[in-house]
Amino acid sequence: MAYLDKHDDERVLEQAGVRVTAVRLLVWREVRRAFHDTFSLADLEDTLPTVDRSTLFRTLVSLTDAHLLHEIDDGSGAQKYCVCHHDDTRHCLGHVHLTCVRCHRTFCLKDVTIPNVPLPEGFAPEETEYVVKGICSRCNKE
Ligand SMILES: [Zn+2]
Ligand SMILES: [Zn+2]
Ligand SMILES: [Zn+2]
Repeated sequence: MAYLDKHDDERVLEQAGVRVTAVRLLVWREVRRAFHDTFSLADLEDTLPTVDRSTLFRTLVSLTDAHLLHEIDDGSGAQKYCVCHHDDTRHCLGHVHLTCVRCHRTFCLKDVTIPNVPLPEGFAPEETEYVVKGICSRCNKE
């Protein structure tokens, strides 16, 4: 079973056009294991302390370029990322995010796709961000 899983991860990277390396495979597995919602480079450094920061950053850029990760600017000042769970990652324009202005956590609404905005002719969209800012339920109870 473990063998099949390993194979699947490599295949996902290859199909997205990512050259498979040990560190890319490690990061790809880690982001799906460790994070349910969005994460920052600093969060990834905490869970993978043996890999240096610049390698982690470059790996995140490769996975984002390959459309396996979404990038979110939630206004916190730290770039956030999340895993794209869309079947066709290349044509996924992303999902809605909720960001808490108190604890600065950003949650994925994976099932809520970003509404289709009519764009002027000649404008080719590459990505769309839709971030709802507010107070999360945990902070609301305090
Ligand atoms: Zn997506
Ligand atoms: Zn909060
Ligand atoms: Zn997300």
